[in-house]
Parts: sequence; C-alpha cells; structure tokens
Amino acid sequence: MQQDIKKLTVIELQNILKGWGASVYHAKQVFNWIYKLGARDFSAMSDLSAGLRIRLEENFFILGSGIAEQQDSVDGTQKFLIRLHDASLIEAVVIPAEGRVTGCISSQVGCKYACTFCASGQSGLKRNLTSTEILEEILLLNSGKKITHIVFMGIGEPLDNYDEVLRAIRAINSPDGIGIGARRITISTCGVIPAIGKLAQEKLQIELSISLHAADDLIRSQIMPVNKKYPLKALMAACQDYIKKTDRQITFEYVLIKGLNSDLQSVKDLAKILKPLRLAKVNLIPSNPIKEMNVQPPGKLEVLYFKDYLIKQGIQVTLRKSRGQDIDAACGQLRLKYDKR
Ligand code: SAH
Repeated sequence: MQQDIKKLTVIELQNILKGWGASVYHAKQVFNWIYKLGARDFSAMSDLSAGLRIRLEENFFILGSGIAEQQDSVDGTQKFLIRLHDASLIEAVVIPAEGRVTGCISSQVGCKYACTFCASGQSGLKRNLTSTEILEEILLLNSGKKITHIVFMGIGEPLDNYDEVLRAIRAINSPDGIGIGARRITISTCGVIPAIGKLAQEKLQIELSISLHAADDLIRSQIMPVNKKYPLKALMAACQDYIKKTDRQITFEYVLIKGLNSDLQSVKDLAKILKPLRLAKVNLIPSNPIKEMNVQPPGKLEVLYFKDYLIKQGIQVTLRKSRGQDIDAACGQLRLKYDKR
C-alpha cells in the first residue's frame, strides 16, 4: 500500500532514496514540487527521471483528500468543502485581502463545543484531523492564489488536537515545507485553559486568538457552554500568564450578536477585563447571520459605538469586514447544509 509522503521529513526521504540507489538531492526537489509548486502527482515532477517518478508513485501518495464542493464569492472569498479519505467532510476558506491571502483551516471533523452562534458545533465532534490532513487543506487551497497566512478558525478546536496541530504548524512553518512564517500562523481557541498554558511553553512565534464573544459569565455561558468549565476569571488569568511568558499579544475575537452582547454594559464589561492585559487587541466581528440559529448582527451604529468605546478606553481594536456573505461563509455553514441534503 502507498504511504503518505507528507509524513516524511526531507532527511527521511533522503534515506529512502539512498536505499533505492538514487541521488539524495532529489528529496528536496520532491518537497519543492509538493509544497511550493503544488504538484498533485509524481508524474508532474518533470525534473525527475521517469524511473524515479514511477518508483515514488508505487510507494507514496501526495493527497488523500479532495474537494467535494467549491463556492466562490463575488468578493474573492472561496470556500471549499473537503472530503477526507474516510468520506468525512471539513471546510477551508481562502480570504484574499490587502496584500495577503489568508487560508482559514479546520483542525477537527465537527466540534464538541456547541457555541450557539456557530454552525460548526451543531452535530458534535467526529474525530481529530491528522497533521497531514491539515497540511492537505493548505495544499488544496494553494491551487489558486498562494496562501500567505494561516488561521485555525475553521471547524474544530485546535487546542483539543494539540499534538497534530503543532506538528502541522512545524511543517507549515518549515522552509522545506510550505514555508509560512510563524507570525503569519494563528491558533484560535474557545478558551481551553490547560492547553493555553502548555502553548506558552512552546517558544513558538505564532499568534494566539481567544474567541471571547462576551465579558460577562452569564452571557458567555449562555452562548459558549465551555465557559461553565473555564469561566472568565480563570481564562483571563491564563491569558495574563501567556502574555507574561511569551511577551506576545493576544487577539480577542468578539462576534457581535444583536440583542445579546453588543450593548453599553457589554462593552463596559469587555473594557474592564481587557484593561489589565499589557498586550491585547480586540477583533470585532459583526456576526454572519444564521437564520436557523436566530443569529443576526447588530446595526452599523451600534457596532461603531462599541468600537469607539473601546478606543476611548485605550484598547486596540479592529473591525473585521464580513466576507463571503453570499456563500455561507460563516464557520461550518456549508458542511451543515451538505449534511442536511
Ligand atoms: N474553536 C476555535 C476555533 C474556531 S474559530 C475557537 O473557538 O476559536 C471560530 C470562529 O468562527 C469564531 O471566533 C468566530 O470568529 C467565527 N464564527 C463562528 N460563527 C460565526 C458567525 N455566526 N458569525 C461570525 N463569525 C463566526
């Protein structure tokens, strides 16, 4: 049976080539074809001898998953439904914006957290992705515009799949692999405190985002059940600790949902819990409407008021433009629809 070539390091492939009596130099060529040039089969590797290409093909495969469905938004956002080798479905998105192309990728099949505004958690967790399945998402996304930034903001909780996500990040980051700088790779978490502590020890230059979405325990527990296990006080202490240990800024994601977390009291609470943090930034996201789940964004004025309040409190804030509204761009919506069909 063929093996997944993405499980190998350059050195491991060099050793295999040596065993075949081929030049070790070809290992770097093969890596370049897969990770930089996006080759999907060995026959495309035109600078290798025909014999070597056949030998590679007999022993290895490059991609175990493929694109099941693709949606293109008028704003350039592209959403992919990816079918894995066992027919499981995940989503990945390409988001082009000023000077960068962000790949938003999944870390699990499904999600166990059941946040009320997010379509990804509506049918539970099926399984973790392997590191090579995560890499394949990027290889599949890379077929059009070259991906420059990666965010783990697709389906699943990356910190619950810690080892495979970190293995994937090392390959994404490696110059022999995809070669994306660590500072251009973001892990997003709903607030799994023990794993945040572990991540702080890794000495990685990656970005960390916390999906906060409410600064009051009652509201946060209502929309994010994980808050009952890891409530705000403990979460903020973990963030404080992370910043102290890594000297890196944390971004707090805040999805604004009409009638729920966008009023004056909410922004006051938010300013209050973020002020003590030395390196924090808020990313405001007017929610993508999900009809089935009664989720609507607040009006424009309310959003701007919320933003200005934070600025006046000296808190760094960005307002994320909603992208791909015409293509079910919010987390998990495409997969949810597909499952229902
Ligand atoms: N489990 C991790 C990784 C998933 S990222 C985490 O919770 O951080 C999930 C992100 O999807 C959220 O932070 C939010 O930015 C986005 N999201 C989910 N549902 C959304 C909706 N209805 N509208 C806008 N963004 C949404």
